[in-house]
Amino acid sequence: MNTIVIVGGGAAGLQLATRLARRLGKPGLAEIVLVDRSPTHLWKPLLHEVAAGRLEPVVHHTSFALQAERHRFCYVQGDLQAVDRINRTISVAISGTGHGEGGQLQSIGYDKLVLAVGGVTQYFGVPGAREHALTLDSVSSAEQVRERLFTALRRKTAQAHAQPQATTGTVRVAIVGAGATGVQLAAQLRRTSSVLNRYGIHRLDPVTGVDICLIEASPAVLPGLGARIADRVGEQLARLNIRVQCGARVTSVSESGLTMAGQAPMQADVVVWAAGIAAPGMLASFGLPVNAKGQIRVLPTLQSVDDEHIYAIGDCASCRPQDLDAELPTRAQVAYQQALYLAQALPRRLAGKHAEGFRYRDYGSLVSLAGSSAIANLAAPGKDSGWHIEGRFAALLHHAVYRRHVLAIHGWGRALGMTLAQGLERLLAAGTRLH
Ligand SMILES: Cc1cc2nc3c(=O)[nH]c(=O)nc-3n(C[C@H](O)[C@H](O)[C@H](O)COP(=O)(O)OP(=O)(O)OC[C@H]3O[C@@H](n4cnc5c(N)ncnc54)[C@H](O)[C@@H]3O)c2cc1C
Repeated sequence: MNTIVIVGGGAAGLQLATRLARRLGKPGLAEIVLVDRSPTHLWKPLLHEVAAGRLEPVVHHTSFALQAERHRFCYVQGDLQAVDRINRTISVAISGTGHGEGGQLQSIGYDKLVLAVGGVTQYFGVPGAREHALTLDSVSSAEQVRERLFTALRRKTAQAHAQPQATTGTVRVAIVGAGATGVQLAAQLRRTSSVLNRYGIHRLDPVTGVDICLIEASPAVLPGLGARIADRVGEQLARLNIRVQCGARVTSVSESGLTMAGQAPMQADVVVWAAGIAAPGMLASFGLPVNAKGQIRVLPTLQSVDDEHIYAIGDCASCRPQDLDAELPTRAQVAYQQALYLAQALPRRLAGKHAEGFRYRDYGSLVSLAGSSAIANLAAPGKDSGWHIEGRFAALLHHAVYRRHVLAIHGWGRALGMTLAQGLERLLAAGTRLH
């Protein structure tokens, strides 16, 4: 029996493991093994909501062990360390086994290996960025953003109480990178500052007392998503009193803020780095061809260009389908479509049948601006500029993309149950974490 090992249970990996388990695992046609360093899965596009305290991770996460038991695949909690391509084994440092930082090593054999380890923050070598800036790479890093913001809000409020005559303080938040991640985080933080003020968690003015600045090296926000959506998002950011500095290059980050080329240092209580994604550095050590961002180069079949037994999908893959002249972006819809494709193509190939190469369909872009506001530019057949949608309907669509992910993983019954439970939690609580 073939063993298919999937490393990384994110947007791509968990869906693939679940689908392959249904198709190959349950009928006993193959053994499916999922390896992830974390015990739980949370859909990554929700991380800015975790950072803003809008979303309680424990209400939205999926336990890998529970999912594995329900769908009959094997789950190993550990960190991928090495790939032995000759003997077709991977080496995994098992979490919680206490042998130094890495843990005890376990060797797992594979017939097919799917790498779906996602991306990591790219700092472009900016001094101090790695040490002082926070990121949205994982649930724990998003929680750090929330904690840093809460501490700053409380400290400034206490200072204002202690010196009532003094000018009320301002909490300064600098977000480096005005792509979808940075823009969505900025909008959520603005909403959070108002909600926390309403509940008395801080006494600063929710607008002037919390200064949010988005810094972008490109000439406009949302580089790569088109001028129309960028213009409208720019207007909405101005309406939310979010400052935007485009064409600005950050040259260093320190404990007290950051510096941009040709400008005086900017003080900041919270600096979040959302400026770029690269593949985890360890992928380059497997001897597989990678691009400049360290992503594994794959054929349209999603197999490594150098090893037919190794596939890569999602953010860690460098994929250029036959019908496109550029590499696919690091986006959830690419990860989703690649997982869907491989769930069909892998069983066919294992059965000795032919499977066409992967084709990507761009359905457009959706940017959430917190609450019931979002802006979307959806692909429209025969219309170059696409359909532009704003407001509640766009926000509903944004929400629907997440629900589709939950549905793909859990099926109708559980997805419905989770939606109700999450809605109830939001209704009964404040809708934003207050501590
Ligand atoms: C705040 C935010 C907002 C976003 N918003 C959008 C959006 O609106 N639309 C959109 O299309 N995209 C969005 N994205 C991008 C989207 O989240 C990613 O493109 C998508 O999650 C990639 O899926 P993936 O499966 O490749 O990786 P991930 O979802 O990152 O999953 C990778 C998994 O691999 C595991 N892992 C990593 N290294 C190892 C290792 N060494 N050993 C074992 N396990 C490992 C991790 O624990 C994780 O579970 C957003 C991203 C962020 C951070």
